[in-house]
Amino acid sequence: MLQAILLDRDGVINRERADYVKCWDEMEILPGALAALRRLARLPIPICVVTNQSAIGRKIISAQTVDALHRRLAALAAAQGGRIDAFFVCPHHPDAGCDCRKPKPGLLLQAAQRFSLDLSRCILVGDSFTDYAAAAAVHCPAILVQTGRQGSDLRRQLQGSPAIPLVSDLNAAAEKIRLRYDRTQQTV
Ligand SMILES: [Zn+2]
Repeated sequence: MLQAILLDRDGVINRERADYVKCWDEMEILPGALAALRRLARLPIPICVVTNQSAIGRKIISAQTVDALHRRLAALAAAQGGRIDAFFVCPHHPDAGCDCRKPKPGLLLQAAQRFSLDLSRCILVGDSFTDYAAAAAVHCPAILVQTGRQGSDLRRQLQGSPAIPLVSDLNAAAEKIRLRYDRTQQTV
């Protein structure tokens, strides 16, 4: 049975910016993302965001500001019938050598601890091979979307890995997740 949905943020829910999302005005929600969150919210399992925010470690934005952005994002999702139950953030600089910056699986492990999850029974939606690698490290299935910075170029990058499910956007991922949820419900 599917236990939780783990979502990358930038490139999955909102448009990724090379200069980082630093304020609410820069939080450009991707088309269909709120509708996708609404569809996912119908499943009675936690929805968590797992996101690298090295802008904190780079002193470009404070952790408090990121928290405030996330509270606002969760409120926006809720106002549209969706749900984000928790945010797990890596605030570290890439050079810090932490255990949580994806492709390390630390954020997934944090979510697993908080919600008592078997990660092999969860699913992660990301927009990069880095997300896939973080999930694979803890045997968590993953779906990649093409709304990130790499866009449709991701398909070419993944040509050596045809087993990685690749869909257009979060809405398409939500449909796959719903089917997987229904299927796993039947097999318990
Ligand atoms: Zn970290």
